[in-house]
Amino acid sequence: MNIIIFGPPGAGKGTQAKYIVENLNSFQVSTGDMLRDEIKKDTDVGKKIINNMNEGKFVEDEIVNNLLEKVVFDPKKKNKLIFDGYPRTVNQAKNLDNLLLKSHQKLHHIFFLNVDKDTIIKRIEKRKILEKRSDDESDTILKRYDIYMSKTKPVLDYYSSKEEFHEIDGNLKIEEISAKIQEFLNV
Ligand code: AMP
Repeated sequence: MNIIIFGPPGAGKGTQAKYIVENLNSFQVSTGDMLRDEIKKDTDVGKKIINNMNEGKFVEDEIVNNLLEKVVFDPKKKNKLIFDGYPRTVNQAKNLDNLLLKSHQKLHHIFFLNVDKDTIIKRIEKRKILEKRSDDESDTILKRYDIYMSKTKPVLDYYSSKEEFHEIDGNLKIEEISAKIQEFLNV
């Protein structure tokens, strides 16, 4: 199955993606992890994106779309893709549709984790201590939330009328969210 986990920063996308990956023997496609890896390896892409990443701004669609193409066309991962943090713009959503079409795949589920701003701030404050991410500073969190609202909300409109779309209350506990996801996966 190919699945998108969608929602604001701190919604628990990564946590739920890992849960699905274990359950469905599939692959997590986290563009955030892929981009952090480029920075760690100090590649040309890494050098280009480091400032945007640290400031909580989006990386250019072209860069992210290129990284994604390799994964979607990887035969090992065909129909086993769990997208976490992609797509974040309508341009990326259209690109994903295109790549899936070209590689003879489709999307099976789109889970939208809907979370309140207060919950997000609390969760990211906690993650900052656990993961020491440079983009988890308080002012950056708020910037990332605002960017999400302006750029990623239109992606919600792009998907919300599709039958694969499911909204889940992301304020629930981790296990409760996983249980709700599981219900859809079993159908
Ligand atoms: P994440 O780990 O998904 O929270 O992403 C961390 C940061 O990576 C974001 O704040 C962006 O700077 C960048 N990033 C991750 N995924 C994308 C994407 N699909 N489009 C643009 N920027 C992205």
